[in-house]
Amino acid sequence: MSKRDYYEVLGVPRTASLDEIKKAYRRLARQLHPDVNKDDPHAADKFKELTEAYQVLSNEESRRKYDQFGHAAFEQGAGPGGPGGADFSWFEDFPDLSDLFDLFMGGAWRRRATGPQRGADLRYDLTIGFEEAAFGTEKEIEVPRTEICPRCHGNQAEPGTPIRTCPHCHGTGHIQMVQNTFFGRMATTRVCEACGGQGKLVDTPCRECHGQGVVHRQRRLKVRIPAGVDEGTRIRLAGEGEAGSRGGSPGDLYVFVRVKPHKLFVRQGLDIRCQVPITFAQAALGAEIQVPTLEGTMPLRIPEGTQTGSVFRLRGKGIPSLQGFGRGDQFVEVKVVTPTKLNPRQRRLFKELADSFGEEVLDSQGLLGKMKDSFTRHAGQG
Ligand SMILES: [Zn+2]
Ligand SMILES: [Zn+2]
Repeated sequence: MSKRDYYEVLGVPRTASLDEIKKAYRRLARQLHPDVNKDDPHAADKFKELTEAYQVLSNEESRRKYDQFGHAAFEQGAGPGGPGGADFSWFEDFPDLSDLFDLFMGGAWRRRATGPQRGADLRYDLTIGFEEAAFGTEKEIEVPRTEICPRCHGNQAEPGTPIRTCPHCHGTGHIQMVQNTFFGRMATTRVCEACGGQGKLVDTPCRECHGQGVVHRQRRLKVRIPAGVDEGTRIRLAGEGEAGSRGGSPGDLYVFVRVKPHKLFVRQGLDIRCQVPITFAQAALGAEIQVPTLEGTMPLRIPEGTQTGSVFRLRGKGIPSLQGFGRGDQFVEVKVVTPTKLNPRQRRLFKELADSFGEEVLDSQGLLGKMKDSFTRHAGQG
């Protein structure tokens, strides 16, 4: 799905000031909020789009990135040299009206602090060898991430100490109130400040995580690389991302594969290509030569009278397909190498051979004949 330009979404020019952006958002948020468009099945999407545009353009740093790179600035999988990915996973959850109220009344933008939150996805760049990509391998990687604290199991209290129900919100995590806002008089639900929306209070924070419920870890993981992966293949390890909060599931880990170039082979999809040198004599007389493949050398029959640049196909010697069906081919291009240093005997033999040919070039394709033809036509008798 193509994304609309953020400025277009907010209906402001690219030169708009922060104040204009805020005003446009305030106006549109009132119009488009799902709570006032209950009949529109796309209301939530429209509102999400609007909020996303506002979030990006109201922040100086993210607005600069957006102006420079467009939506690509925030896409998952922006390359390591690219602008880098921002965590926008929370757009899954649109703010309720009380959050909007907070926003415009100078309060901080808050996630809805109740309910489980899924952990963020992580990216890991892994470089592997050419043959490893072709035939698959298993790698051990070390991923820095947050995990549920093993001491308190995420409940934030030191084991054996009490966890009290928050007396301010009676354990619900939010507080109802009636307020006058520019949306009119309305009942709003605010996140309980006493417990931060958790509905509970911890007297003695867990020693290991200092009451955070999560800890930072360097986690060693085994990654199975299937045969046939290529530069840019993404491998998803479900549930190996950052820990979720309030009982939310963890995010996923995406391993981005990079493949080192090979000394001999160049890959084209499932096929591989290489060049092999042969001598004058092998080209003229024909020979059986040994050629490198991904699995050691194998014999290749060069027929008599082979030209330099001729390409031979070794069926099924390429890369196995990632889907598991079939395999590419290997293409071998032979290069006839002209000897550069001849000993006196070789020089004599070459001369003898040359004398036996005379001026004639043994030319099966008739290229020289055609050239001679055109010479004689222009220069009279050759
Ligand atoms: Zn803990
Ligand atoms: Zn509370």
